[in-house]
Amino acid sequence: MIFLKTQDEIELLRQSNLLVGRTLAEIAKIIKPGVTTRQLDKVAEEFIRDNGAEPTFKGFPHYEPGYPAFPGTLCTSVNDMIVHGIPNDIELKDGDIVSVDCGTYMNGFCGDSAYTFCVGEVSEEVKELLRVTKEALYLGIENAVHGKRLGDIGYAVQKHCESHGYGVVREFVGHGIGRDMHEDPQVPNYGSRGRGTLLKHGMCIAIEPMITQGSRKIKWHNDGWGVSTADGKCAAHFEHTVAVGMGKADILSSFEFVEEVLRNKDN
Ligand code: MG
Ligand code: MG
Repeated sequence: MIFLKTQDEIELLRQSNLLVGRTLAEIAKIIKPGVTTRQLDKVAEEFIRDNGAEPTFKGFPHYEPGYPAFPGTLCTSVNDMIVHGIPNDIELKDGDIVSVDCGTYMNGFCGDSAYTFCVGEVSEEVKELLRVTKEALYLGIENAVHGKRLGDIGYAVQKHCESHGYGVVREFVGHGIGRDMHEDPQVPNYGSRGRGTLLKHGMCIAIEPMITQGSRKIKWHNDGWGVSTADGKCAAHFEHTVAVGMGKADILSSFEFVEEVLRNKDN
Protein backbone atom coordinates (compact mmCIF):
# COMPACT_ATOMS: atom_id res chain seq x y z
CA MET A 1 0.00 0.00 0.00
CA ILE A 2 1.36 3.41 -1.00
CA PHE A 3 0.90 6.20 1.57
CA LEU A 4 0.57 9.64 0.01
CA LYS A 5 2.03 12.37 2.23
CA THR A 6 0.57 15.74 3.12
CA GLN A 7 2.75 18.83 2.76
CA ASP A 8 3.24 18.87 6.56
CA GLU A 9 4.46 15.27 6.44
CA ILE A 10 6.76 16.10 3.51
CA GLU A 11 8.31 18.91 5.58
CA LEU A 12 9.01 16.45 8.42
CA LEU A 13 10.58 14.06 5.93
CA ARG A 14 12.70 16.97 4.68
CA GLN A 15 13.97 17.68 8.21
CA SER A 16 15.04 14.08 8.67
CA ASN A 17 16.65 13.98 5.23
CA LEU A 18 18.51 17.27 5.67
CA LEU A 19 20.04 15.78 8.80
CA VAL A 20 21.27 12.87 6.67
CA GLY A 21 22.83 15.40 4.28
CA ARG A 22 24.56 17.16 7.17
CA THR A 23 25.75 13.83 8.58
CA LEU A 24 27.26 12.90 5.22
CA ALA A 25 29.05 16.27 5.28
CA GLU A 26 30.64 15.32 8.63
CA ILE A 27 31.91 12.19 6.87
CA ALA A 28 33.21 14.28 3.97
CA LYS A 29 35.27 16.33 6.44
CA ILE A 30 37.18 13.38 7.87
CA ILE A 31 37.33 10.74 5.13
CA LYS A 32 40.93 10.19 4.00
CA PRO A 33 43.54 7.42 3.73
CA GLY A 34 44.18 5.78 7.13
CA VAL A 35 40.69 6.34 8.52
CA THR A 36 38.54 3.26 9.19
CA THR A 37 34.87 2.91 8.33
CA ARG A 38 34.20 2.17 12.01
CA GLN A 39 35.57 5.63 12.85
CA LEU A 40 33.24 7.17 10.24
CA ASP A 41 30.35 5.22 11.74
CA LYS A 42 31.04 6.52 15.25
CA VAL A 43 31.15 10.14 14.06
CA ALA A 44 27.86 9.67 12.21
CA GLU A 45 26.08 8.06 15.15
CA GLU A 46 27.16 10.81 17.57
CA PHE A 47 26.20 13.56 15.13
CA ILE A 48 22.74 12.06 14.51
CA ARG A 49 22.04 11.58 18.24
CA ASP A 50 23.38 15.06 19.09
CA ASN A 51 20.78 16.40 16.66
CA GLY A 52 17.92 14.67 18.41
CA ALA A 53 17.48 11.85 15.94
CA GLU A 54 18.18 8.13 15.81
CA PRO A 55 20.19 6.16 13.27
CA THR A 56 17.62 4.05 11.41
CA PHE A 57 20.02 1.40 10.15
CA LYS A 58 21.36 0.43 13.56
CA GLY A 59 19.51 -2.70 14.70
CA PHE A 60 17.62 -2.93 11.42
CA PRO A 61 16.46 -6.55 11.20
CA HIS A 62 17.81 -8.79 8.47
CA TYR A 63 15.21 -9.73 5.86
CA GLU A 64 16.11 -13.40 6.21
CA PRO A 65 15.71 -15.22 9.53
CA GLY A 66 18.86 -16.35 11.30
CA TYR A 67 21.03 -13.37 10.44
CA PRO A 68 21.93 -10.63 12.94
CA ALA A 69 20.45 -7.14 12.80
CA PHE A 70 22.58 -4.48 11.09
CA PRO A 71 25.19 -3.30 13.62
CA GLY A 72 26.14 0.10 12.14
CA THR A 73 24.78 3.61 11.74
CA LEU A 74 26.17 3.73 8.22
CA CYS A 75 26.46 1.23 5.42
CA THR A 76 30.04 1.67 4.24
CA SER A 77 30.70 -0.18 1.00
CA VAL A 78 34.28 0.02 -0.28
CA ASN A 79 35.37 -0.43 -3.94
CA ASP A 80 33.77 -3.63 -5.29
CA MET A 81 31.22 -3.70 -2.48
CA ILE A 82 27.90 -2.45 -3.83
CA VAL A 83 25.78 -1.93 -0.69
CA HIS A 84 25.26 -2.88 2.97
CA GLY A 85 28.91 -2.93 4.01
CA ILE A 86 29.27 -3.27 7.79
CA PRO A 87 31.72 -0.68 9.18
CA ASN A 88 35.03 -2.31 10.19
CA ASP A 89 38.61 -1.62 11.32
CA ILE A 90 40.29 -1.80 7.91
CA GLU A 91 42.03 1.49 7.08
CA LEU A 92 40.89 3.21 3.90
CA LYS A 93 43.68 3.68 1.39
CA ASP A 94 44.53 6.10 -1.36
CA GLY A 95 42.44 5.35 -4.47
CA ASP A 96 39.53 3.68 -2.64
CA ILE A 97 35.91 4.67 -3.15
CA VAL A 98 33.34 4.31 -0.36
CA SER A 99 29.58 4.37 -0.70
CA VAL A 100 28.29 5.84 2.56
CA ASP A 101 24.57 5.22 3.04
CA CYS A 102 22.93 6.90 6.03
CA GLY A 103 19.46 6.76 7.56
CA THR A 104 17.88 8.88 10.29
CA TYR A 105 14.62 8.76 12.21
CA MET A 106 13.35 12.06 13.56
CA ASN A 107 9.90 13.38 14.47
CA GLY A 108 8.37 10.13 13.26
CA PHE A 109 9.86 10.24 9.76
CA CYS A 110 12.84 8.64 8.03
CA GLY A 111 15.72 10.12 6.10
CA ASP A 112 17.72 8.02 3.63
CA SER A 113 20.51 9.18 1.33
CA ALA A 114 23.84 7.87 0.07
CA TYR A 115 26.98 9.35 -1.47
CA THR A 116 30.02 7.60 -2.89
CA PHE A 117 33.24 9.30 -1.74
CA CYS A 118 36.74 9.21 -3.21
CA VAL A 119 39.61 8.53 -0.80
CA GLY A 120 42.72 10.41 -1.92
CA GLU A 121 43.44 10.16 -5.64
CA VAL A 122 41.02 7.90 -7.50
CA SER A 123 41.59 6.71 -11.09
CA GLU A 124 39.88 8.63 -13.90
CA GLU A 125 37.99 5.46 -14.88
CA VAL A 126 36.43 5.14 -11.44
CA LYS A 127 35.70 8.87 -11.22
CA GLU A 128 33.77 8.48 -14.47
CA LEU A 129 31.70 5.66 -12.90
CA LEU A 130 30.84 7.98 -9.99
CA ARG A 131 29.99 10.88 -12.29
CA VAL A 132 27.68 8.79 -14.50
CA THR A 133 25.95 7.16 -11.51
CA LYS A 134 25.21 10.55 -9.94
CA GLU A 135 23.98 11.89 -13.29
CA ALA A 136 21.70 8.84 -13.57
CA LEU A 137 20.25 9.59 -10.14
CA TYR A 138 19.29 13.11 -11.23
CA LEU A 139 17.90 11.84 -14.55
CA GLY A 140 15.73 9.45 -12.55
CA ILE A 141 14.63 12.29 -10.27
CA GLU A 142 13.56 14.37 -13.30
CA ASN A 143 10.93 11.68 -13.87
CA ALA A 144 9.56 11.68 -10.31
CA VAL A 145 6.66 13.80 -11.47
CA HIS A 146 2.89 13.49 -11.06
CA GLY A 147 1.38 11.61 -14.01
CA LYS A 148 4.55 9.73 -15.00
CA ARG A 149 5.13 6.08 -14.09
CA LEU A 150 7.73 4.22 -12.06
CA GLY A 151 9.12 2.70 -15.26
CA ASP A 152 10.03 6.19 -16.48
CA ILE A 153 12.42 6.58 -13.52
CA GLY A 154 14.00 3.16 -14.02
CA TYR A 155 14.29 3.66 -17.76
CA ALA A 156 16.11 6.99 -17.34
CA VAL A 157 18.63 5.51 -14.88
CA GLN A 158 19.21 2.31 -16.86
CA LYS A 159 19.57 3.99 -20.26
CA HIS A 160 22.16 6.47 -19.03
CA CYS A 161 24.29 3.88 -17.23
CA GLU A 162 24.11 1.17 -19.87
CA SER A 163 24.98 3.68 -22.60
CA HIS A 164 28.31 4.04 -20.76
CA GLY A 165 28.78 0.26 -20.65
CA TYR A 166 27.99 -0.05 -16.95
CA GLY A 167 25.86 -2.67 -15.17
CA VAL A 168 22.59 -1.88 -13.38
CA VAL A 169 22.08 -4.03 -10.28
CA ARG A 170 18.69 -5.76 -10.32
CA GLU A 171 18.60 -7.41 -6.89
CA PHE A 172 18.35 -4.14 -4.94
CA VAL A 173 16.03 -1.24 -5.64
CA GLY A 174 14.86 2.09 -4.29
CA HIS A 175 11.68 2.31 -2.23
CA GLY A 176 8.86 4.34 -0.84
CA ILE A 177 9.79 6.15 2.38
CA GLY A 178 7.90 7.86 5.18
CA ARG A 179 7.21 6.71 8.72
CA ASP A 180 8.98 3.51 7.68
CA MET A 181 12.30 3.45 5.88
CA HIS A 182 11.03 0.92 3.37
CA GLU A 183 7.47 1.49 2.17
CA ASP A 184 5.76 0.64 -1.11
CA PRO A 185 6.43 0.95 -3.95
CA GLN A 186 9.74 -0.61 -4.96
CA VAL A 187 11.69 1.73 -7.23
CA PRO A 188 13.88 -0.27 -9.64
CA ASN A 189 16.81 1.29 -11.48
CA TYR A 190 15.66 -0.36 -14.69
CA GLY A 191 12.35 -0.36 -16.53
CA SER A 192 10.29 0.63 -19.52
CA ARG A 193 8.91 4.05 -20.31
CA GLY A 194 5.23 4.48 -19.50
CA ARG A 195 5.05 1.24 -17.50
CA GLY A 196 4.51 0.52 -13.83
CA THR A 197 2.79 2.31 -10.98
CA LEU A 198 1.37 5.75 -11.71
CA LEU A 199 3.27 8.47 -9.82
CA LYS A 200 1.15 10.81 -7.77
CA HIS A 201 1.77 14.09 -5.99
CA GLY A 202 2.58 13.24 -2.35
CA MET A 203 4.37 9.96 -3.06
CA CYS A 204 7.78 9.98 -1.37
CA ILE A 205 10.46 7.67 -2.71
CA ALA A 206 14.15 6.96 -2.34
CA ILE A 207 15.84 6.67 -5.74
CA GLU A 208 19.20 4.92 -5.47
CA PRO A 209 21.09 3.68 -8.53
CA MET A 210 23.59 0.92 -7.70
CA ILE A 211 25.85 0.78 -10.74
CA THR A 212 28.77 -1.50 -11.59
CA GLN A 213 31.85 -0.81 -13.67
CA GLY A 214 31.65 -4.30 -15.21
CA SER A 215 29.11 -7.11 -14.94
CA ARG A 216 25.96 -6.47 -12.88
CA LYS A 217 26.27 -9.91 -11.25
CA ILE A 218 26.51 -9.81 -7.46
CA LYS A 219 28.15 -11.87 -4.72
CA TRP A 220 27.03 -12.10 -1.08
CA HIS A 221 29.38 -11.78 1.89
CA ASN A 222 29.31 -14.32 4.73
CA ASP A 223 28.01 -11.72 7.22
CA GLY A 224 24.63 -11.88 5.49
CA TRP A 225 24.69 -8.15 4.68
CA GLY A 226 27.52 -7.15 2.37
CA VAL A 227 27.03 -7.43 -1.38
CA SER A 228 29.88 -7.08 -3.87
CA THR A 229 30.32 -7.28 -7.61
CA ALA A 230 30.99 -10.87 -8.73
CA ASP A 231 33.82 -9.74 -11.00
CA GLY A 232 35.58 -7.62 -8.35
CA LYS A 233 35.20 -4.36 -10.31
CA CYS A 234 34.05 -1.18 -8.59
CA ALA A 235 30.45 -0.18 -7.88
CA ALA A 236 28.90 3.23 -7.18
CA HIS A 237 25.79 4.20 -5.23
CA PHE A 238 24.07 7.57 -4.90
CA GLU A 239 20.67 8.06 -3.27
CA HIS A 240 18.20 10.86 -2.72
CA THR A 241 14.80 10.86 -1.03
CA VAL A 242 12.33 12.83 -3.15
CA ALA A 243 8.67 13.82 -3.09
CA VAL A 244 6.85 13.37 -6.39
CA GLY A 245 5.76 16.85 -7.42
CA MET A 246 3.46 18.54 -9.90
CA GLY A 247 5.76 19.19 -12.85
CA LYS A 248 8.95 18.83 -10.78
CA ALA A 249 10.28 16.51 -8.10
CA ASP A 250 11.07 17.98 -4.68
CA ILE A 251 14.45 16.61 -3.51
CA LEU A 252 14.19 16.24 0.28
CA SER A 253 17.75 15.07 0.99
CA SER A 254 20.75 17.15 -0.08
CA PHE A 255 24.30 16.74 -1.36
CA GLU A 256 24.94 20.47 -0.97
CA PHE A 257 26.48 20.15 2.51
CA VAL A 258 28.76 17.31 1.33
CA GLU A 259 29.82 19.01 -1.86
CA GLU A 260 30.60 22.28 -0.12
CA VAL A 261 33.01 20.38 2.17
CA LEU A 262 34.54 18.53 -0.79
CA ARG A 263 35.05 21.77 -2.77
CA ASN A 264 36.90 23.35 0.16
CA LYS A 265 39.01 20.21 0.60
CA ASP A 266 40.11 20.38 -3.05
CA ASN A 267 41.30 23.99 -2.75
MG1 MG B 1 20.01 4.38 1.78
MG1 MG C 1 17.27 3.53 0.49
